[in-house]
Amino acid sequence: MTMLPVSLADAFLTPDRRKGGRISLVGAGPGAADLLTLRALNRLQEAEIVFYDRLVDPDVLEFCPQAERIYVGKEVGRHAWPQEKIDEVIVAAALQGRRVVRLKSGDPGVFGRATEELAAAAEHDIPIEIVPGVSAASAAGAALNRSLTERGATDRLVFATATCREGDETPEWVEVLRPGTTLALYMGVRKAPKIAADLLAAGVPGEVEVEIVASATTVREKVARTCLSELAATIAREEIANPAIILIRYAKPLAQSRAMAVGVAAQA
Ligand code: SAH
Repeated sequence: MTMLPVSLADAFLTPDRRKGGRISLVGAGPGAADLLTLRALNRLQEAEIVFYDRLVDPDVLEFCPQAERIYVGKEVGRHAWPQEKIDEVIVAAALQGRRVVRLKSGDPGVFGRATEELAAAAEHDIPIEIVPGVSAASAAGAALNRSLTERGATDRLVFATATCREGDETPEWVEVLRPGTTLALYMGVRKAPKIAADLLAAGVPGEVEVEIVASATTVREKVARTCLSELAATIAREEIANPAIILIRYAKPLAQSRAMAVGVAAQA
């Protein structure tokens, strides 16, 4: 693959050569290829070059046999391809006038580093778009055959990552998980035991329902149902591995019955 530094590519390319170059940040969905949107399929079929991530299912790549396909995956915590390098290569390809697809797992706008790529394209006046995809939390709900929100129990659905940028402050989970919340935790397998311990220490009931869905919609899909006080043990026992979504459901009725029980105890 040619990899001119962006500024150099810019200098050598005439405006005509640059014409037509554009970037689509395409959501590949959680795994199953038939969860791609029709728009995603169109972009893949029109693509000249596709840069794809680690979690993108190989089946999805079969829709773009005509395109040059380049793996730019990263392992969590180990950056095989630093983000700046990805920004640079997608921009360089678009500046050569190519139709570029940047294929990301799930929805590109959910913990997908889309902002950096949008900014890199804007800096070079390259047309760029987002093609949304089915995010892992939606896929987890489907795997469970259960709605992420339930009338009377849930009035808030929170997508959160347990793995923040190094040095960033971690959220106050007890503030995030107010009664009536379904918390969909991304990148949470390693951090979940500590998060559960913090929540329990802050008074969240141990009976709060937890569901874990690993590799949703793929042949490796695995589901575990447990509760907050058993979360760490379940992950260990079931050998849950990434990628997984952890759904923590603090139902409003549970909070109410808990408050009543506390009230009764106080009166006694
Ligand atoms: N943009 C993606 C999320 C990328 S962050 C999306 O919208 O889904 C990567 C995390 O997503 C993983 O660590 C895991 O928590 C979750 N994830 C991605 N694919 C998944 C799948 N098939 N099943 C369960 N979780 C998944």
